[in-house]
Amino acid sequence: MYGGLAHGASEVIAAFGTEEQKHLFCDRMFSGKWGGTMCLTEPHAGTDVGSAKTSAKRNADGTYSITGTKIFITGGDQQFTDNIIHLVLARVEGAPPGTKGLTLFIVPSVRTSPDGTLGERNDVVAQSIEHKMGINGSCTCVLNFGDNGQCIGWPVGGEEKLNQGMPQMFKMMNGARIAVGMQGVAVASTAYLNALEYARDRKQGSSITHWKDASAPRVSILEHADVRRMLLDMKARVEASARSP
Ligand SMILES: Cc1cc2nc3c(=O)[nH]c(=O)nc-3n(C[C@H](O)[C@H](O)[C@H](O)COP(=O)(O)OP(=O)(O)OC[C@H]3O[C@@H](n4cnc5c(N)ncnc54)[C@H](O)[C@@H]3O)c2cc1C
Repeated sequence: MYGGLAHGASEVIAAFGTEEQKHLFCDRMFSGKWGGTMCLTEPHAGTDVGSAKTSAKRNADGTYSITGTKIFITGGDQQFTDNIIHLVLARVEGAPPGTKGLTLFIVPSVRTSPDGTLGERNDVVAQSIEHKMGINGSCTCVLNFGDNGQCIGWPVGGEEKLNQGMPQMFKMMNGARIAVGMQGVAVASTAYLNALEYARDRKQGSSITHWKDASAPRVSILEHADVRRMLLDMKARVEASARSP
């Protein structure tokens, strides 16, 4: 999850960023030195992402001050990497409502100089970790941006790319969808292989051909027809999923 998010965010910067942004972020993110996130969802804006309220106000030096709360942010905070580069959808003052008024901002958790030297922390705080049913090895965070008015960000691709946030973000979302699908197939495949190994190992009952003989040797449950049926059902589903177009 952590590596995938860093890679996906870096792909967005590689595709749409300025030369300076690519130079500063891409190698460090593709190599895993720095992490990455995608920050779309807000408490009132899930499917309805166009109602996002996170705001961006231009500063005199060309940076933007970001203010708002994002929820469900995968890899929102962690200690594997020195820096986490958040890609944040926000609305610049005066931009149109809905998805057409959203800009994608690069918001590092630690501010950096153009040569990559780390400076002071940006004003991004993981307020809490979401409680999930699964994938608990991946922290999913509530992130507060700019609680102290000190959260600085830059539009991906510079100022001429204001309000282009959704098409830019879709590059990452489309990649994430395929990656999540692959995760599902991988987990299902692992479950099948574990079940197969267990069924080979576990001995229980005798063969149907000796069912009346109480002293017949015990056999692995793999030999029982209904266990084979269940394993074949798992195998067929995994193979069909893996081969879906
Ligand atoms: C493990 C996990 C990791 C996540 N990671 C990230 C992340 O890294 N970054 C990020 O930004 N977000 C992340 N999310 C949030 C995810 O993108 C949202 O959950 C998603 O956008 C749906 O929003 P919601 O949960 O608010 O559901 P809602 O929008 O409240 O939807 C609830 C249900 O209503 C349905 N529904 C909603 N609107 C309509 C409609 N108009 N017509 C028909 N049906 C509708 C939905 O399909 C859904 O079934 C993550 C979520 C999870 C669970």
